[in-house]
Amino acid sequence: MIIDIHVHPFYHETKILNEMQMAGVDRGVLLGVDVDPLDVDKPEIKKKLRKRYLTAGYGFHTLRFASIEDNIKHFYETLIDYYPELKTSNQEIGDLVRRNPNKFLGFGSVNPNKEEAYVQEKLEQISDLGLKGVKLLPTLQLFSPIETENFKRICDYCEKNKKVLLYHTGCDPGPWEIPELSEDANPKYLEPILEYYSPIIILAHFGSYSAYKPGIWFNEAIEIGKKFDNVYFDSSAVSSFVFRQKNLKRIKEEIGLDRLIYGSDYPVVWGSSMKYEVDVIKGCKLITEDEKENILGLNAANILNLAPY
Ligand SMILES: [Zn+2]
Repeated sequence: MIIDIHVHPFYHETKILNEMQMAGVDRGVLLGVDVDPLDVDKPEIKKKLRKRYLTAGYGFHTLRFASIEDNIKHFYETLIDYYPELKTSNQEIGDLVRRNPNKFLGFGSVNPNKEEAYVQEKLEQISDLGLKGVKLLPTLQLFSPIETENFKRICDYCEKNKKVLLYHTGCDPGPWEIPELSEDANPKYLEPILEYYSPIIILAHFGSYSAYKPGIWFNEAIEIGKKFDNVYFDSSAVSSFVFRQKNLKRIKEEIGLDRLIYGSDYPVVWGSSMKYEVDVIKGCKLITEDEKENILGLNAANILNLAPY
């Protein structure tokens, strides 16, 4: 049984189903993303972004506009241009799952920068639609896990309602390749929150995604995993880092391979595919067949309460 824990429904469902079939993936977890580009104009967010952009200090000349806010807005516009079928609202995720109940599972999303009432409403919607988890990204959603009260509410909701929290860690494309701008996605900031709340939380990308510094917060991710056994990890967008001998050995010794989960991040990793990502794990000579089965599907089935078959 192969479960892909990290799929973005940016294409038509027949294309996603076809991709899954080619890779031998039985179930795909479709992720919602609730973002508001206008959040960058909130005074406290703008101030934080500008300060971090300045402290970055080194020349990221690929950015197009002088102000960081304009670069961020431009990034969201490009995403919509590039994937015209971008379907990421909770309702759309719910509809995709309803039409393909044996193939898809859904995680909703909620923007933590909004009012408490907005967050409550979205969480209720996630429950009503029968979605299995919540996807959050401190990068694209521009929130700090420490300073944003709503993040605690979402952790509390996930813990009480047995929803899985898939939480982006590491850098992200576009302006978020600047590590200073992605700082909130350093897993170390989760520590004080996880002292109080114990949702099942998956650190997407193992704290490691970065085009410039692969493995950027791998150490911090390992530390959080050692401290809290409700912390899991997905290998999406970082399989070339995670399945390297030295790193895999550390994961095995310090966390255990029963908390490592396959994900492809389809279709956003340039030059990759679900099949490629599955084959990386199937072909890895450093792990046993049982360990491969766990990483490819059984670990995810366990936290999603799916019967293995
Ligand atoms: Zn992703």
